[in-house]
Amino acid sequence: MSEIINHKKNQLINLLRDKGITNEKVISIMEKIPRESFIDPALKQMAYDDDALPIGHNQTISSPYIVAKMSQIIIEEDKMDKVLEIGTGCSYQTVVLSYLFKKVVSIERIKSLYVKSKKIVSDFNRNNIKLIFGDGYTGSNIDAPFDAIIITAAPNEIPKSLIEQLKTHGRMIMPLNKNGKQILIRIKNTPKGIILKEIDDVLFVPMLKGIIQ
Ligand code: SAH
Repeated sequence: MSEIINHKKNQLINLLRDKGITNEKVISIMEKIPRESFIDPALKQMAYDDDALPIGHNQTISSPYIVAKMSQIIIEEDKMDKVLEIGTGCSYQTVVLSYLFKKVVSIERIKSLYVKSKKIVSDFNRNNIKLIFGDGYTGSNIDAPFDAIIITAAPNEIPKSLIEQLKTHGRMIMPLNKNGKQILIRIKNTPKGIILKEIDDVLFVPMLKGIIQ
């Protein structure tokens, strides 16, 4: 790794701490995974800026802070068996999750992003990741129920089909379009129904229906 990239990486880690990422496991994973491997080589110098970057098809790789924040929020001591991610994109968040959970299932609706991510995941030797090409609104019945679900694209409503694939006491973290803006919400699935907590204003690409071959 070049000196400059190394320096920028250290700066980014400091920034994540300043912005409230306190979980040392998340910090060490962010340090370990080379974000530059998930983006176009032409953007390599920007890999450690705290920005979302284009990955083609009008989609983006989420900013490091958002990835770290969602990862930190989703951690719950003893419930780290199976996580479902909707919106694989370039699989950066997917690989981060694979160091936190025993098994990661991730769904992407754009075929070429799915194909690219397949290669990255195998290059990284992450054999606890299952990638699916499909519409995330249907989740993955054969892999359900999940301890946690993370959605990395914003729907207009909380997808009921996905709540049904959560374990009792499972949690879901997602952006939601509400009153012309987007908020990050955390949902807890309790025996008495869901409990919802609003966390922050965010900006994600939309969660869309159907697939693109
Ligand atoms: N998790 C990524 C973020 C990718 S951007 C990261 O680590 O950076 C969000 C992705 O969600 C896009 O690739 C988009 O194609 C995908 N997406 C949107 N709607 C979807 C749906 N219904 N099912 C699956 N993927 C979806």
